[in-house]
Amino acid sequence: MSDARLKLAVQSKGRLSEGGMDLLKRAGVRFAYGRDQLHRRAENLPLDLMLVRDDDIPSFVAGGACDYGIVGENVLYEMQARSSRYANLEVALPLGFAGCTLKLAAPKGGAIGSVADLAGRSVATSYPGLTRKYLVERGIEAEIVEMRGSVEVAPRMGIADAICDLVSSGATLEANGLAAFETVLESQAVLVRRTTGRNQDVDGVAHTLIERAEGVIASAQTKYILLNAPKDRLAEIKALLPGSDAPTIAQIADRDDVVAVHAVCRERVFWETLEKLRGAGARAILVLPIEKMMA
Ligand code: ATP
Ligand code: ZN
Repeated sequence: MSDARLKLAVQSKGRLSEGGMDLLKRAGVRFAYGRDQLHRRAENLPLDLMLVRDDDIPSFVAGGACDYGIVGENVLYEMQARSSRYANLEVALPLGFAGCTLKLAAPKGGAIGSVADLAGRSVATSYPGLTRKYLVERGIEAEIVEMRGSVEVAPRMGIADAICDLVSSGATLEANGLAAFETVLESQAVLVRRTTGRNQDVDGVAHTLIERAEGVIASAQTKYILLNAPKDRLAEIKALLPGSDAPTIAQIADRDDVVAVHAVCRERVFWETLEKLRGAGARAILVLPIEKMMA
């Protein structure tokens, strides 16, 4: 047995740290209590966390200080757009949380309503790499004004004509009289690693973690549905089950006209779906969460 331990970089505080720690917990990783601000040692897996700023994670992984990292695609691709130092990074697994969108936006009802309108104008952003790349690929020449934060105030302050910023609900844009007109990047949290030069034993630990995380991510969206269906409407009911391929059909004692249907649904199950199922004659419908999954 090797004593290699996987060094995983996670944001110390913020949206990625909450989601990341939650995912690790649900993947069964337990951490020893400690007062260390920078390190946390897992008790039941050869895994050590390094708690850092998310913006530093690509550089720590690219340079070998950490083996893997949890970072937003926005930060990863921005770094890669800025410098070839990050060309050796790849996504090992999309993690399905911290979803947000990098969007171009401009004052509502103003002169800018499309990418073409940006020609000869200025765009304020904390993502100069991605913004420049996006505009260059479309043959638009615009000035990029780099800002560290509060990008949404730039048009009002006369600093820039438009902005390129992260949006999740759109409330911030709305509050600043801005309207988005183009999506530059759809982002989520990802597990990142180097494409080459990884330690095999460390990768073994990562493999275990990735498999478990895949199960956690899949089971979060997957539900187990139980219902009773009239035999003569079974085809209709099967077709209504979201993302399920082969439900189990079982006899119900003393009933010839009704069968029990058990199905794993790999998509979200909405109230509307249940109402349609009932409309098709299904009764005693139960939707259960799935705690763990392994194919
Ligand atoms: P630090 O750099 O100090 O670690 P931060 O301010 O960059 O913290 P957060 O605001 O927690 O940290 O954002 C971390 C990541 O969360 C972003 O890079 C992005 O991937 C994701 N994210 C999800 N939704 C949003 C949003 N509405 N605004 C900003 N980031 C978001
Ligand atoms: Zn950050």
